Amino acid sequence: MKVRVVKGTNKKGCSVTEITSNKGNKIIIDYGKCVNDGIKDATPDIDWNNTLGVFITHNHDDHIGFINDVPKDVPVYVEREALGVYKIIADFYEQGIARKVTLFEPGDIITLDDFKIVTYQVDHSAYNSCMFLVEVDGKRVLHMSDFREHGRQGYLVKKAIEDIKEVDVLCMEGATITRPNNDKKKEEDQLQYELYKIMRRYRQVFVVTSSSNIDRLITTYKASYRADHIFIEDPTIASIGDYLDKLGKVVPNPNPKNENDFRDVYTFIPKYLKEKEGTSYKKYINNFSDRDAHALMPFSKYVFLIKPEMFNEIKKLYIDKGYVKDACLIYSMWDGYLDRPEMRIFIENMKAAGIKVYYKHTSGHNDEEAREFVTTTLKYKYLKHIHTEDNDKYINYPELNLTDLEI
Ligand SMILES: [Zn+2]
Ligand SMILES: [Zn+2]
Repeated sequence: MKVRVVKGTNKKGCSVTEITSNKGNKIIIDYGKCVNDGIKDATPDIDWNNTLGVFITHNHDDHIGFINDVPKDVPVYVEREALGVYKIIADFYEQGIARKVTLFEPGDIITLDDFKIVTYQVDHSAYNSCMFLVEVDGKRVLHMSDFREHGRQGYLVKKAIEDIKEVDVLCMEGATITRPNNDKKKEEDQLQYELYKIMRRYRQVFVVTSSSNIDRLITTYKASYRADHIFIEDPTIASIGDYLDKLGKVVPNPNPKNENDFRDVYTFIPKYLKEKEGTSYKKYINNFSDRDAHALMPFSKYVFLIKPEMFNEIKKLYIDKGYVKDACLIYSMWDGYLDRPEMRIFIENMKAAGIKVYYKHTSGHNDEEAREFVTTTLKYKYLKHIHTEDNDKYINYPELNLTDLEI
């Protein structure tokens, strides 16, 4: 069997891996679009003959972004709830999924001809992220893309690694290995306390975070609740919370299944979303019309999960009328997004309105301690680095393989 890292070994941080059996069948793991090139990324170079399936680890674009380009006769496998969350975000940005997807759940085992794929849930900043143990030709490959141990479900990785024990090839993510702040990452609980300490000092707290980061949504809500603020979600996050709540998960949202949950949660439906006709997100926001926060905002202490595109409406309705006088903004996502023009302009506008800006985040990716746990607990013959920007930084790991691997 052969393992080829198609994208993600050097310079480009996204992820596409190909595993081919002796019989000539293959599977692809992740089909991602590099997000930070500043130029349009090209679709990965794959020969699709004899491809049994594409397996997606999670719903970030650097892993799932090209799924519409997979040939229609090749099945694409995505975790059920991860796809549900992805579809909601796609509906808000009017970028639907134009292909059939086969769903799986963590723990499912999928057999395709000579391949067996065992799915494990891992902790990451995308909901229900997974890793795959691939068995083919009597060999075992563990593909770990985007995982961490310092999140609320960090124990999932530890348990899976202890259960798996031994593989022939370990493909391990190292997205943060080359980043300047590659130190031990703080836990979500610690971040929650730091957010609370900021929130209690201000009447109006704006937070900018990723819609798909459900861990951070819960962290922010708990800090807000403790600081005695009402909690206002932008409509995308509110819709994701509503979707997961209906599946029985405890996720803050304005329209909970159990009406005694989350009575302090509202949404803010901006005018530009209300006014557009016939768009795919209307079915979500119509559910929230009696939980809209507009009228409460002049008189309430609140934490508001805001999107940069809402700034003009917030300015007109509240800042210019003097309702935002004791406010801060907390930036709580990867600092790479600060380079994007819309984010830079948003933060400049907030500062110009007299709003103090804090940067509080913990990474969705592994730190050195997590990588060391994996490489010392799991027995492996070869290590392949994936999802990193610099081969050289892996050089201290034992049994590193830098070329296409055939065993
Ligand atoms: Zn990710
Ligand atoms: Zn990634």
